Amino acid sequence: MEDVIIIGLGCAGYTAAIYSARYKLKTFLVGAEAGGMGNTAAEVGNWPGEIEIRGPDLMDKFKAHATSFKEVTLKIAYVKDIQKIDGGFRVFMEGDQTVDGKTVIFATGSNKRHLGIPGETEFSGKGVTYCATCDAFFYRNKTVAVIGGGDSAVEGAAIAAQVAAKVYLVHRKNSFRAEPFWVEKVKEKKNVEFVLERNVLEVHGDKKVTGIKLDQPWNGSDMLTVDGVFIEIGSNPAIDLPLKLGCEIDEKGFMKVDEAQRSSVPGIFGAGDLTSGSNHFAQFTTAAGEGTVAANSAFNFLQSGH
Ligand code: NDP
Repeated sequence: MEDVIIIGLGCAGYTAAIYSARYKLKTFLVGAEAGGMGNTAAEVGNWPGEIEIRGPDLMDKFKAHATSFKEVTLKIAYVKDIQKIDGGFRVFMEGDQTVDGKTVIFATGSNKRHLGIPGETEFSGKGVTYCATCDAFFYRNKTVAVIGGGDSAVEGAAIAAQVAAKVYLVHRKNSFRAEPFWVEKVKEKKNVEFVLERNVLEVHGDKKVTGIKLDQPWNGSDMLTVDGVFIEIGSNPAIDLPLKLGCEIDEKGFMKVDEAQRSSVPGIFGAGDLTSGSNHFAQFTTAAGEGTVAANSAFNFLQSGH
């Protein structure tokens, strides 16, 4: 039986594994995809010690660090279920494999939100995508719309503007919740047009996206002609597995944790974007901090004789 099973291969999961290994805990680290949401960051400028680094490069460093310990077993597999068993928990992975652990740290992150408008599903992968920084490079010299007003949208617009001929940044308010760093960067781009106080009602297309319909006209028309639509309206915490164990969820839909990253179920901890921790501020730095505390709490839990 493992001492700790960490589910999720993002910043929180890797950090938890590093601490868990240094506590000499037998650690099983599992997730469907190495790197998680961190892979989608084109440019990370707020990880201390790295003035600027690509997200995938930072994630590779985390992975190399976490797997440098003999205590850590890394497994790339989708986790489909989890159950309470005597003395711990059983994790069910794809291919009917299982692993048992005395404690579990959920570091499963979050899933991108959808707008739920006509045309969105139909043209998904045909011009509609959910990661501007990943997909912008397919739109060289084209016209695209980025929807949203958070860091993902505004950073995405800045990255898209480097290759696209024209970028519309469509946001339902007239102010942004994104870091002013990114807002300023986008304002400097001559090929970005801010379309503010507008909602997108429909995605139009033929075989591929041809445009989006707005709820109010912009420059005399409620249609924007675009080749691509990057929907960056935030994410929902990935709480399916914690829910199966009966973990409490907070009023915003996040896995509820206390100051020690303990869930409401003994032996279960949470770290990173899925939790109620860090004032819901989803950052590399906060995910790393939560991973640290979760591993410490798992260690304390095991030390106390559970
Ligand atoms: P956020 O939740 O921060 O922002 C989502 C944006 O989408 C908001 O502007 C919101 O509008 C808008 N929105 C939500 N729902 C709708 C809707 N139905 N229709 C239209 N607009 C909608 O999500 P992000 O993905 O931007 O960021 C998530 C977290 O990740 C944040 O903590 C962020 O700081 C972090 N992040 C950090 C990065 C970095 O540091 N480099 C990069 C990317 C993300 P409104 O403002 O009106 O609510």
